[in-house]
Amino acid sequence: MHANPLLQASTLPYQLPPFDRVYDQHYREAFAEGMAAQLREVKAITALETGATFENTIVALERSGQILDRVGAVFFNLIASNTNEAMQQYESELAPQLAAHEDAILLDSRLFAQVSALYEQRLALGLEPEAIQLLERYHTQFVRAGARLNDDEKARLKAINGQISSLTTRFRQNVLKATSDGAVAVDSVEELAGLTEEQIGAAAGAAAARGLVGKWLITLQNTTTQPLLAQLSNRALRERLFRASTARGGAGNTNNTQIVQQLVVLRAQRAALLGYRNHATYQLEDESAGSPAAVERILTDLVPAALARAREDARDLQQLVEAHAREEGFAPFRLAAWDWPFYAERLRRARFDFDRAEVAPYFELSRVLRDGVFYAAHELYGLTFKERPELPVYHPDVRVFEVFDLDGTPLALFLADYFARDSKQGGAWMNNFVRQARLLGLKPVVANNLNVPKPQSGQPALLTFEEVTTLFHEFGHALHGMLSNVRYPLLQGTNVPRDFVEFPSQFNEMWARDPKVLGNFARHHRTGEPMPQALLSKVLAAQTFDQGYATTEYLAAALIDQAWHELGADEAAQIADPARFEAKVLESHGIDPALVPPRYHTGYFAHVFSGGYSAGYYAYIWSEVLARDAGEWFIAHGGLRRANGANLRSKVLSRGRSLDPQAMFIDFYGGPPKVAPLVAYRGL
Ligand SMILES: [Zn+2]
Repeated sequence: MHANPLLQASTLPYQLPPFDRVYDQHYREAFAEGMAAQLREVKAITALETGATFENTIVALERSGQILDRVGAVFFNLIASNTNEAMQQYESELAPQLAAHEDAILLDSRLFAQVSALYEQRLALGLEPEAIQLLERYHTQFVRAGARLNDDEKARLKAINGQISSLTTRFRQNVLKATSDGAVAVDSVEELAGLTEEQIGAAAGAAAARGLVGKWLITLQNTTTQPLLAQLSNRALRERLFRASTARGGAGNTNNTQIVQQLVVLRAQRAALLGYRNHATYQLEDESAGSPAAVERILTDLVPAALARAREDARDLQQLVEAHAREEGFAPFRLAAWDWPFYAERLRRARFDFDRAEVAPYFELSRVLRDGVFYAAHELYGLTFKERPELPVYHPDVRVFEVFDLDGTPLALFLADYFARDSKQGGAWMNNFVRQARLLGLKPVVANNLNVPKPQSGQPALLTFEEVTTLFHEFGHALHGMLSNVRYPLLQGTNVPRDFVEFPSQFNEMWARDPKVLGNFARHHRTGEPMPQALLSKVLAAQTFDQGYATTEYLAAALIDQAWHELGADEAAQIADPARFEAKVLESHGIDPALVPPRYHTGYFAHVFSGGYSAGYYAYIWSEVLARDAGEWFIAHGGLRRANGANLRSKVLSRGRSLDPQAMFIDFYGGPPKVAPLVAYRGL
């Protein structure tokens, strides 16, 4: 018998989890013990005979739940990075237990009474500013969870939460089924003209897997605009594919219309119960945007520039349609939404004239990491990196680096997990294995995940420029975690609002394009020769291509999200036809969905109806405004310089949520955010 390694603090450097000794069977015991231990800790806090103090209540809460934090960090990171069936089965059992555990703490009226009493006298307690912020965060969390409600209202709230949770699950299942059922079957291979042999083979395989003998199947991706639209030269098939995509969730046995209406009504009722005008007001109060008006303002400000660029591009694409028609002898047609990606791709090739194979040899993964990502962090923040291959990892592809501060002090561990594998979910993300907190003597252990195809053994991993940008993006999140220097765990690095958390990451992307950084890493993996200037210029110029479309489809979806969640319960109950509601929202902003459709229509907008982004889809662009403003500030102050990095570090990157995020930004930038730098960066 071996002891469960998740029950004790790790003895490895930086408390790195002992991945070589953690097995699936340890999770259940560690979660059970973790929840029980935290409830005992909370009970001890509310059983105090003496009066509540900051130390015996708030700090005690901060010290509670360490086993749960430890097992949660390992389990939830690995279920994304290196999952298996046993973990997934256990996860669906675990989720409601964790939700109930959280309710048990946040709706504990004795605990809330103690927190509340301290909150009321917070300025008279002689606390330092970070401690006051912590106390305010605790109070906010309790209040937003419903701690101020009476018992009847709490019961009503729990019932609403239960209904919302089952409706969001049904919405998600409908989207999954509609997306699968919406796949487009094709009878003849000629119709697939434009696809590669591998893609045609995959389509034949997809058809065979569903018993469609002698056919080809095009499966749907999440977004309205389907990636294969850029390649398919058969216009009728493009239209079928597009219509299959937009029809999802609108009819038949996967119709989400009523679910959406009920969800919007329930969210509005919950907001009213908690004392808010509508769900958007409730959600945005705790974000840096603060209010629906602020979100409306930023989205509305960006629409004209995006639309102008999209209209200009539409004219160029219409000309391409006409030239194409003359060339091939077909009757010209008016550019439709299903034609846009196809003609945009032709325009891209005509304008920039380079392909992936030409560029890739200059973007070798290890070199980009060392001479690009780490180099920029050294120039800006003075960080140095030393690989620690002797430390245990959860998969042989993971590399561990120890990170040292500018004076040589050990700062953090950074885990780089860049290759795709079957056990890893798609996309790219950063996660925390150990969150920085001086109170607990914890230094950060953070990881970056990407899904770069793994090269054959002995071959270099060559990246696209988009993957290079993603590498910098995720490392921006990692820096936010590693440079965190706060006392309290709740206020740690990346524990900031949704609309702020992408600021450091999107900001860090700019160094991928910086001439000095780019010159340092864009070198041929065999010869070490720098990338020819002409090619470099084309790669950089291509970054702003088709941003009118990309920005407009994003803004359209964000506006739809806001509009739904600014409704009161009674208003929401009146809306019978989501398509008409959407159309009115878009029309009021001058967006023509026939040309640029929203990235998601309501029927399959999973981010907001089954993900965590209700009234929050705007967050990506809100963060990006901050990122581009910061970029402009750096350029105005001499760019890649240690003094500039030190300023951003001291005012933002080290602060976590120890200050109000908006105030932190203004302190750094010297004023409120402006959209102009983002407009320029996107080439609008
Ligand atoms: Zn990100």
